[in-house]
Amino acid sequence: MKKWRTKNGYHIFRVVTGRSNAYLVSYGGRNILVDTGTSPYYNRLIKNINSIITYSEHIDMIVLTHTHFDHCQNASRLRRDHGSIILASRYESEFAKKGYTPIPKGTWAYSRLISKIGSPIGSSFLGYPLFPIDIEVEDEYAFNDFDLNLKVLSTPGHSAGSISLIVDNEIAVVGDAMFGIFRNSILPPFADDKRKMFESWKKLYATGCRLFLPGHGKNFEKGLIYREMNRFNLEPLKAE
Ligand SMILES: [Zn+2]
Repeated sequence: MKKWRTKNGYHIFRVVTGRSNAYLVSYGGRNILVDTGTSPYYNRLIKNINSIITYSEHIDMIVLTHTHFDHCQNASRLRRDHGSIILASRYESEFAKKGYTPIPKGTWAYSRLISKIGSPIGSSFLGYPLFPIDIEVEDEYAFNDFDLNLKVLSTPGHSAGSISLIVDNEIAVVGDAMFGIFRNSILPPFADDKRKMFESWKKLYATGCRLFLPGHGKNFEKGLIYREMNRFNLEPLKAE
């Protein structure tokens, strides 16, 4: 299992990979799961989490970067069986209630085609067991109640309610706002609003995080985002 550590000792474990990534952020006996993977990966997810957390701990919270099926198919079951509360953007709550989130538009000709073919497939293939969102985030969320140096930022574009988790000001878990599948490119194949997504890249770059963990594929460093911002002529925001 791949893992990372911040200077202050926050650990991040990649507890599911393959179809999509899920990460467990662990610090001081608190455990936050970011995304859940698809239902065929449920047992592996639980096995990996149990190998990390102690007997007296549990998954305190599930942060959903967005509600596409490949990120949230296990959310309902985890909430029921493990008592975890779910945090997501309020812009995803209508979808979560129905158990289906539409596929975004493609960003390239090829993925546009898939988007067209994929959309009519509908909820029977791309759906998920519905769930309530216990904490709906509008723009930002700080984990003051948990006394954790974590922050949720809204990073829309891939979907209207895409969010990212900033861990200890060092590592960003970004969902599908950025992709790690393609060599030398972070552009996701699908996005509801590409312009908003580019704004989110600037926002994430300005956090000062050094490492980025995407919902699909491998982690990458800040330099790649800088190069991608240049490629698309995006002016960096002033760093915070
Ligand atoms: Zn997605």
